[in-house]
Amino acid sequence: MNTSLDAQLSQKRVLIADGAAGTMLQQMGLPPGNAPDAWNLTHPDEVKSLHRQYCEVGAEVIYTNTFGGTRIRLRRAGLDDEVRRINLAGVQLARSVAEEFANRLVFGDIGPTGELLAPVGTLPYEVAMNAFAEQAAALAEGGVDALIIETLSDLEEARAAVEGVRSVTDLPVAVTLSFDSKGRTMFGVTPEQAIKALLALGVTIAGANCGRTLSETLEAVLKMRAVAPEALLMAKPNAGLPHTKNSALVYEVTPETMADTAVRFVTEAGVRIFGGCCGSTPEHIRAIATALARLC
Ligand SMILES: [Zn+2]
Repeated sequence: MNTSLDAQLSQKRVLIADGAAGTMLQQMGLPPGNAPDAWNLTHPDEVKSLHRQYCEVGAEVIYTNTFGGTRIRLRRAGLDDEVRRINLAGVQLARSVAEEFANRLVFGDIGPTGELLAPVGTLPYEVAMNAFAEQAAALAEGGVDALIIETLSDLEEARAAVEGVRSVTDLPVAVTLSFDSKGRTMFGVTPEQAIKALLALGVTIAGANCGRTLSETLEAVLKMRAVAPEALLMAKPNAGLPHTKNSALVYEVTPETMADTAVRFVTEAGVRIFGGCCGSTPEHIRAIATALARLC
């Protein structure tokens, strides 16, 4: 394992990760539906501000703003010729903020391609794997501490992503799935199936992110723990389910509720990295960091 991540994990019971990027960047003016990753090139100060806000409240792990940084996803915005530049810039922005603080880790963020793999959809496995490899190569070249493949639903896509990453780098790889369909992923994968498959792929860290409610994501991670007592687990749940208020999406879970649940993720499920997904803000991460500091 990478010495830096390894060292941090050996010293601390749990590392605090950052919160949402997409919903935060939209508050800074990113139009809904636009590619947040493009802001690495066009709005670097806003992206650095996002990272800095999370570091200031105690995030020890920050994700690069590269969730949609595969060629397949960037093509939708006509940016498929910019894969390397967008991902390299994403690492440089996160790295420059991380270095303003002590002991911060940068995880290179890789999200789903947004297309369905064959035979369910039309995306060939090799094309997906090569797209993940291309993104991971740029993230590794930029100098991330680990790769995080997140918000996946399909274990075949997870396998393509892990194989793609592994073809270009030996950095630690984390994979988290979204259990948003009655305790399973959209593809019907159970937490037990997920953890077994991910460990068989040799991932360093596995877990859950996004999802629906905090309690559903906690339930998913508890099920992973039950069948994988030794696994390194992590979680980055949403701040609950959004609803529409004055045509804006509102997430109702308060920082206090999220912090209380964070304690349960650590004490009951033994997660080693905990942060927030959609709807979580620096105030959520501040409350989580304060609550988890009392455990250590
Ligand atoms: Zn989310």
